Amino acid sequence: MHTYDVVVVGAGNAAFCAALAAREKAQKVLVLERAPEVESGGNSRFTAGLMRVAYDGVEDLKRVMPDLSAEEIARSDFGTYSADQFLDDMARVTEYRCDPDLTELLVKRSLDTLAWMRTKGVRFTAAWGRQAFNIGGKFKFWGGLTVEAVGGGPGLVESLTNAARKNGIEVWYSARAVDLIRDDDGVKGVRVKRNGRTIDVHAKSVVLAAGGFQANPEWRARYLGPGWELAKVRGTRFNTGDVICMALDAGAAPAGNWSGCHAVAWERNAPEFGDLAIGDQFQKHSYPWGVYLNAQGKRFVDEGADFRNYTYAKYGRVILSQPGQFAWQIFDAKVKAQLRDEYKIRQVTKRTANTLEELVRQLDGVDADAALAELKAYNAAVRTEIAFNPNVKDGRCTKGLPIPKSNWANTLDTPPYEAYAVTCGITFTFGGLRINTDAQVLDTDGAPITGLYAAGELVGGIFYFNYPGGSGLTNGAVFGRIAGTSAAR
Ligand SMILES: Cc1cc2nc3c(=O)[nH]c(=O)nc-3n(C[C@H](O)[C@H](O)[C@H](O)COP(=O)(O)OP(=O)(O)OC[C@H]3O[C@@H](n4cnc5c(N)ncnc54)[C@H](O)[C@@H]3O)c2cc1C
Repeated sequence: MHTYDVVVVGAGNAAFCAALAAREKAQKVLVLERAPEVESGGNSRFTAGLMRVAYDGVEDLKRVMPDLSAEEIARSDFGTYSADQFLDDMARVTEYRCDPDLTELLVKRSLDTLAWMRTKGVRFTAAWGRQAFNIGGKFKFWGGLTVEAVGGGPGLVESLTNAARKNGIEVWYSARAVDLIRDDDGVKGVRVKRNGRTIDVHAKSVVLAAGGFQANPEWRARYLGPGWELAKVRGTRFNTGDVICMALDAGAAPAGNWSGCHAVAWERNAPEFGDLAIGDQFQKHSYPWGVYLNAQGKRFVDEGADFRNYTYAKYGRVILSQPGQFAWQIFDAKVKAQLRDEYKIRQVTKRTANTLEELVRQLDGVDADAALAELKAYNAAVRTEIAFNPNVKDGRCTKGLPIPKSNWANTLDTPPYEAYAVTCGITFTFGGLRINTDAQVLDTDGAPITGLYAAGELVGGIFYFNYPGGSGLTNGAVFGRIAGTSAAR
């Protein structure tokens, strides 16, 4: 007989935050991980560990990063990212659909939750490498994303796993939840397939934190729409939606944007699922400094509509809808130094040429004549009288094009030119289970299901259409902690 106070399904960021919070009150806590230990940690392990947090200045940041030195503070302009700004960003990018109560919790608990994680042994640092530009010797942060876990996603999962062990939380690897044990009084445990054997694990409460359904091509086509089975999966192959399914079977209500997801520009020849050795480096996020072309040789999206943080998560869908589901990103030598590290890995599909005429002929699958005409029309439309400034939305735009570029429009005039082939990489799905502010799962009549809690990617109602970068981990941490606390009560 396996009996626990709290069983947590999943072993990513949300799950471990839930387990650690539960363990503050409960004696016996078990984490069930479907993946074997070498592939454990879910999508959380694939991340850069960037976490969006509201702060009113460096004193707030020091709660999360007490190791910041005086010298580091002196050479950084962290600015502020107030709770109001975070709320505004959530509302704006989700087109005012995000659940107001859950979003308020996400924002208002963000700083406190990261400070709590720090007390559990997770270390954070400022994201100098990714989210700040050096201006006159000072690193100026932009886009509301200042904090990252030391060691990125792998470091985050390692610290959380160590914290769980230190706190006496049991972790079972290769242990897949296959059903909920329940009766008329609610959920009483989880049926688990472990090393080929089916085991019943009884518990006072169960927290579901097993990710979305992005790794399930059949569900992608069913819910996201035709063509989505062709997307590459950026992260773990284990988030197939089966835990969402078992909760729905138990009467849980679905919530949120079931046809929506986070999806980005991703190396065209990347494997079907994420590769932990590469992590997030298949992404190609420097498009604001260049232009996109599709198979017809046409631009198809405003590459400079906003800071990368606020557009990257919705442009994967735009790429998927292009003929052949691919696109090329084109840059010239002027912006080469600004290309992110992910452009320097070996596993890129890249073309280089000294003239645009030569370049377009090398773009596999593209109408070269149309592409050349498009690039020339783009060059002619750039308002070069406006200064280029990557730190602000500089308003350096194009004029008169059917698809404008609104900021950072540089002419492509300095060889060598570079082109990178991308397709759509899906990160996670937005639809999931309905929860209340105690992270209790609600049934289709709106009542809490006794003993059942949920957090992270498999919760619906928080993200719609788009997503402010770095909110996924914060979402998992905030609601994981709430779910764990509620489950142990
Ligand atoms: C390449 C990449 C980069 C990213 N970068 C960032 C970033 O920098 N910042 C950010 O905020 N977000 C980022 N994200 C998004 C982020 O990964 C997710 O929002 C977040 O990690 C979700 O956490 P989670 O705990 O809900 O799910 P996960 O971390 O995916 O954990 C789900 C867990 O459930 C397990 N599981 C699944 N089914 C079962 C089952 N039946 N039984 C038992 N266990 C099961 C899985 O194996 C896994 O351990 C990125 C995602 C990817 C793929």
